Amino acid sequence: MIDVILKKGKEKAALQHHPWMFSGAIDRIKGTPGNGEVVAVRAADKAFLAYGYYNAQSRVAVRLLEWDESKVIDKAWYQEKLQTAIAARQHVLHSGETNTCRLVFSEADFLPGLIVDKYGDFLSLQLLSAGMENIKADIIDILREELQPLGIFDKSDANARTHENLEAAQGLLWGEMPPEFIEVKENNILYHINIAEGQKSGFYCDQRDNRRILAAYAPGKTVLDCFSYSGGFSLNSLSLGAAHVTSVDSSALALQTLQHNVVLNGFDATKQESIQSDVNKQLRAFKEEGRKFDIIILDPPKYAPSRSALDRAARAYKDLNRMGMLLLESGGLLATFSCSGAVDIDTFKQIIAWAALDAGKEVQILKQFNQPEDHPIRISFPEGEYLKGLLVRVL
Ligand code: SAH
Repeated sequence: MIDVILKKGKEKAALQHHPWMFSGAIDRIKGTPGNGEVVAVRAADKAFLAYGYYNAQSRVAVRLLEWDESKVIDKAWYQEKLQTAIAARQHVLHSGETNTCRLVFSEADFLPGLIVDKYGDFLSLQLLSAGMENIKADIIDILREELQPLGIFDKSDANARTHENLEAAQGLLWGEMPPEFIEVKENNILYHINIAEGQKSGFYCDQRDNRRILAAYAPGKTVLDCFSYSGGFSLNSLSLGAAHVTSVDSSALALQTLQHNVVLNGFDATKQESIQSDVNKQLRAFKEEGRKFDIIILDPPKYAPSRSALDRAARAYKDLNRMGMLLLESGGLLATFSCSGAVDIDTFKQIIAWAALDAGKEVQILKQFNQPEDHPIRISFPEGEYLKGLLVRVL
């Protein structure tokens, strides 16, 4: 195996089991590893640190996999890691109320660059590192053996592929082609999911718990679900008896799917309206109309893709939340989220405080929202924490 030797003093992150080794930390490489090849990372004094995937094209030159030198990174190793990850999700799936979740969450499950989402009997894979791309065939074999899916679909179209110098990839990897719409269940609510055309890998299963928490406040209330996608928050609110739900999204496909999902669940379609629009524009329009709501959900896409974008993102979050606060009935509830890893919960609270000040409102935090257990946060990889939110009462 090829040795990658670090510069003196650059071993600290690896010793702390952080899974990324940046190219700047490397002193020399004894040989010419191929992209995605497993290498041994050693400190300047040659002490073994970890095995990892090498990639000359990536800023993260080595993605660390295993810190025990006696282990062999073979098919059995992957099988063990996958079995552990899958077993950890049984708590999400066992009640039978949910048959869609994230089975493998990359670094957080010690499989850097591999994401596996379950959609009923189908699996959707994202292979986001050259190392994972190289052992794709083994991963498919193991997933077939462990889960007996009907089909495995490749949805490796994320930007992350470009950092690893990989082309976007999409298509059937094994088995049956999923139908255009797969029917899945989450919190006992049915959804149609279009894996091929949907966003991310088809569904935002990271909001499962938060949808349920929020819905408990919805009985008899008017709800505005901004950035609704296929209706996660809208449908949960309707299921618990919201008086009326307005869903806003810029994507026609998302709203078509949402309409489908309202009917699929047998909800009263007269209690729901969909508006295809830019949320910021729509909130201003509601303000001009003088329209108000009891509950507003703000679940925007990632505004801060990196730390450098933080200032601009903070202003965008502030403006969005200020508008949301102005459209609430007094004592109304705002459920506000950020899926930007660069915005931590303290920063997010500051942004909400700033929005409240600008809106001339008092705000009480009732609850803090997190990412669910199928998106675990590995303590040695804090970058894996990305989804946070607040439920606030606006007075
Ligand atoms: N709340 C959703 C997930 C939201 S994902 C759920 O529970 O499933 C973000 C959504 O925002 C996407 O559906 C995307 O189409 C939409 N979007 C992005 N920018 C937008 C904008 N400026 N105005 C309205 N919708 C937008």
